[in-house]
Amino acid sequence: MKRTVRKVNGIHPLHPNGSLVFCETCEKILGSINERGYNYINIALVCTCGNYGKIEIIKGGHENDITKSVNKMPKTNLNVNICRRCQRPLFQITDGRVKSYSFYAECVCGEKYDRKVNFDKRLGETLKKYSEIKKTLQP
Ligand SMILES: [Zn+2]
Ligand SMILES: [Zn+2]
Repeated sequence: MKRTVRKVNGIHPLHPNGSLVFCETCEKILGSINERGYNYINIALVCTCGNYGKIEIIKGGHENDITKSVNKMPKTNLNVNICRRCQRPLFQITDGRVKSYSFYAECVCGEKYDRKVNFDKRLGETLKKYSEIKKTLQP
């Protein structure tokens, strides 16, 4: 079995594979990730405090090319993103705590979803630039 690869920046998950996700700067809960709901997950977000956060978890070699858009959104119910094929909850973004976010997720059933904010070509990189620009604009 291939190992799990995690890349985390600016945020920290309660459990290595997900659960509640906290902002490292203001320590608020920004959302949660279903630890058993995905093969691959990549979320980049900007917290309302201005901090930029990114989490990418690759389970057992399920790497995805995030530059390729799948243009498919999961079903949402009370901010929970749910797989349309198998009805598994994937992740949740806390209402009002996140200014903007992008994601790419592959459900354990193999279905893929993504959402990219319109200025974002390469998930994360542009968001990082955005947060840097925002910093320079603050007094
Ligand atoms: Zn924050
Ligand atoms: Zn699924």
